[in-house]
Formats: sequence, C-alpha cells, structure tokens
Amino acid sequence: MTTTATFPFEQLLDRFKASPHVVCLTGAGLSLASGIPTYRDQDGNWQGQSPILHQAFLDDPTVRQRYWARSARGWPIFARARPNSAHLGLKRLHDAGLIRQVVTQNVDSLHEQAGTRQVFHLHGNLDWVDCLSCAQQHKRSDVQQQLEALIAPTTDSQVLLPDGDADIADQAIRDFQCPSCSACGGDLKPRVVFFGGSVEVDLVAQIYRFIDQADALLVVGSSLKLFSGYRFCRYALAKDKPIWLINPGWTRVDDQASLKITTPAEVAIPALCRQLGYPLEDSV
Ligand SMILES: [Zn+2]
Repeated sequence: MTTTATFPFEQLLDRFKASPHVVCLTGAGLSLASGIPTYRDQDGNWQGQSPILHQAFLDDPTVRQRYWARSARGWPIFARARPNSAHLGLKRLHDAGLIRQVVTQNVDSLHEQAGTRQVFHLHGNLDWVDCLSCAQQHKRSDVQQQLEALIAPTTDSQVLLPDGDADIADQAIRDFQCPSCSACGGDLKPRVVFFGGSVEVDLVAQIYRFIDQADALLVVGSSLKLFSGYRFCRYALAKDKPIWLINPGWTRVDDQASLKITTPAEVAIPALCRQLGYPLEDSV
C-alpha cells in the first residue's frame, strides 16, 4: 500500500472543508504583523523587561506612575495599529460559520477593527480604563487627553513595547503625576489583566461551553506559555477535541496537537480562506 504524504497546510484545509465548528484562540503572534510587539521570542522565552504585576499596580503608587507615564507615549503608537490579513481572514471564517467563537489573549481591538463581533478578551482590552475607587468606566481615548496634559511635551518615544508600553526616560517617569478619575479623583487602572491577575471565572466557563460544542480548537499566534490560554487546550484534550496550531515558534502543546502549521498567520490564514472560496479580496 502506498501512502501520499500531505503537508500540514493541506491537512488543515481538509479539516476545514469538512465544515467544522471551531473555537479560535489567538495570541500576540497574530498582531505582530500589525506592528504590536510580543513578550516572547520564537522559543517561548521572555524578552525585554519585567511585566507589571497585578498586586504591585494596586499597592504601589510608583508602579502606577511608571505604567501611566510610559503608556502615555505608548498608547498613541499602539492605537495606530491596524488589523492584518490574519485578522481579516479569521473574520471571513467567522462569517462563514466555520469559526464559532474568537477568543483572544490580546489587549488590542484588531479583531473588532477587522469586523469580528463579540470577541472574548481573556486579558481585557486597553480601550477602557476603570476607576479603582468608584468603578466609573472611562474610554482610554478620554484618559489619553488627560495624560497628554500630564506628560512633559519633550518626553518622546517611538519604541513601542508589548501592551501599549513605551520606553521613556526615568526622569520623565519621576516627574510624572498619575491621571485620576474625572468623577471622584480616584486612581485609574486599564481594563487589562496584569500578570498575577485573574481571568473572569464566568468568561472561562462560557468558553468551555463553546469548546464543548466545537469540533476543534484552533490556536493562532500563541506559545500557550500562560495558563490563561493553555487551560483551554487542556480542556479540549480532556474532551477529545483536536487542537490545530498556526504558530511559527514553539508552543506548549506541540506534542499534543493534531496538526501544526509554522507559516505565519498573516500568510497561512489568507491562503486557507482563498482555498475555501472566501478570498480576502472579496471582503473589501
Ligand atoms: Zn472614580
């Protein structure tokens, strides 16, 4: 008997041709082609400086001062990012009913900008800011106006780091006064899950229910190093649901996935759409 070797891309295409219902989990690798840097290199190792810790942000005014000062310059660069062909392709697959739910670890809104609705954000979204005292919700764009008045005009950075962070001079941080809630004057926190923070329990349960009804879990652009995303792979495997990976580098489930494509998402996903009869050119 002879067997025909098939490439992972063809395998993934065959799986999608069977009209599966897929839950799609996306990570930082997806937004890399949009100019938003990732925390980890291809081997899943940490690069750059230490992240903000949840409890430190709540307890330590100097941590908040450092966060807001750097974010004052990082946000405008971050906010200029636009969805790439992977975001647009996933939207096409979502519209086609193949992807039932998009779940992202990213704090950007590039899925929404691509037109995907009701995206589940595991780590929150930088578009919103919450008051730690009165729970008033603020648009980040409104808080940015306050930040622009607080940061010295000579403070500059063109270097965007993950999560809307930017490298600025230490002196500019020391001189910086944190923004405050326009309703009560309280301290502000971006609506993101910092390291050591928790993903909402109800959201996790909701995603488990989607996986229960899915044929597979598609993971795009994540090393799955963090438990927040890895838990859904564990859950899928426990439910005998296959995992399909699109990620150029190492992932935590390489040995357990049914198939893996190492082509970058912004290449692989448009190719998949084209082969399935949903070319991106028709969507614009
Ligand atoms: Zn307040």
